[in-house]
Amino acid sequence: MEDGRKIFHGEIGIEDGKIIYVKEGQSGNSTGEGALCGREGGCPGMRNAQGTGAAWDEEIDAKGNLIMPGFKNAHTHSPMTFLRSYADDMKLQEWLFDKVFPAEAKLTGDDIYWLTKLAVMEYLTSGTTAVFDMYKLKKDSARAAEETGFRMVFCGDMNDFGGTVEEMEQDYLAYNKDPDSLLSYQIGFHAEYTTSREHMEQIAALAGKYEAPVCVHCSETKKEVEECRERSGMTPVAYMDFLGLFHNGGCLFHGVHMDDGDFDIIKKRGISVVTNPASNLKLASGIAPVKRYLDMGIPVAIGTDGPASNNCLDMFREMFLVTGLQKVVCDDPEAVPAMDVLKMSAVNGAHAMGLTDCDTLAEGKRADLIMLDLMQPNMQPLHNIEKNIVYSGSKQNVKMTVINGKVVYRDGEFFIGESPETIYRNADRISERILG
Ligand SMILES: [Zn+2]
Repeated sequence: MEDGRKIFHGEIGIEDGKIIYVKEGQSGNSTGEGALCGREGGCPGMRNAQGTGAAWDEEIDAKGNLIMPGFKNAHTHSPMTFLRSYADDMKLQEWLFDKVFPAEAKLTGDDIYWLTKLAVMEYLTSGTTAVFDMYKLKKDSARAAEETGFRMVFCGDMNDFGGTVEEMEQDYLAYNKDPDSLLSYQIGFHAEYTTSREHMEQIAALAGKYEAPVCVHCSETKKEVEECRERSGMTPVAYMDFLGLFHNGGCLFHGVHMDDGDFDIIKKRGISVVTNPASNLKLASGIAPVKRYLDMGIPVAIGTDGPASNNCLDMFREMFLVTGLQKVVCDDPEAVPAMDVLKMSAVNGAHAMGLTDCDTLAEGKRADLIMLDLMQPNMQPLHNIEKNIVYSGSKQNVKMTVINGKVVYRDGEFFIGESPETIYRNADRISERILG
């Protein structure tokens, strides 16, 4: 899925959670990086072995379907599943301060655990193999992710109402300790408008200590930018850069309202932007200047944002919106073509969240991949598979989701150690208790 990506008919070997070979046809020639697909029919297969024995434990016949890297949902708030369709058709500030924050204050660790499991189910049905999750009580989300076999990168969520820099440092060290873990952590905080200068300076110092990027909601609404200008005389990007937060790069969630100086800072600091088109549309926040970012060589990834503002965790819908909105805003049907969108959803997403070994299908990479069903009416004929995925594809095409070499979702069935009914029942119970 990188620039040299290729779709072909072949086979992938997996051992101990990693891809051990990707080969075209039966030739045995390694093809390096690329997606794998059986475009001409036939039987591209995925094999799955434990240990080093010669016999495969499992061989999966892909039956001419597409195997590609899983989508990376690069900005979400998983436990907010309980707020789905609870507070809608409202302005962002009222929605956040009057509805979301008071309800979230009632959440327990056990609630976070069940609500994250519900989100994981939805991610799997959307072909998402990893998310960049910003929320409180991470140990409970961590338990849910580990038990379900789901890859989760945590983003620091501190603001003036919760969290400390000391806790952030502890989490940073604890979750990044084991490179083979499904969990990892990036330094981050909620937003400039919810975090004091003193706290932001502490976070900048922490990021400096570990030479780490900083990830944050930024310039989502016009109001946010105007209020920051009133407070600091600068835009949020310029102000946070002035405080030293982006000296080791970073990741901006939303990035909708930018001035010329902001683009220059983002480019200079090597910052990624994560666009969240459905959330921005629903809260009438605006449309991110994605084409301008890409034209400047700024990497853009894609996220759903939380299920309270979206309301679904569907990467197919986001991908279509990313390209469709740019075409209209730029008055240019050539803007942000399908292949760029696919790269954003898989490769750029992985890089924005620090998952450099989950970005492509190549030897030595993590086996985080999906199988898309091409034998469905919305995928036929196969003039152009990338365009079919972005312009015509949907969750119904996700046949299988594999994380770390383990099949966690296949043909509508979940292999996550818990029945869907139990997860739904608990989510209902929590929702009823908190929202009445
Ligand atoms: Zn968000």
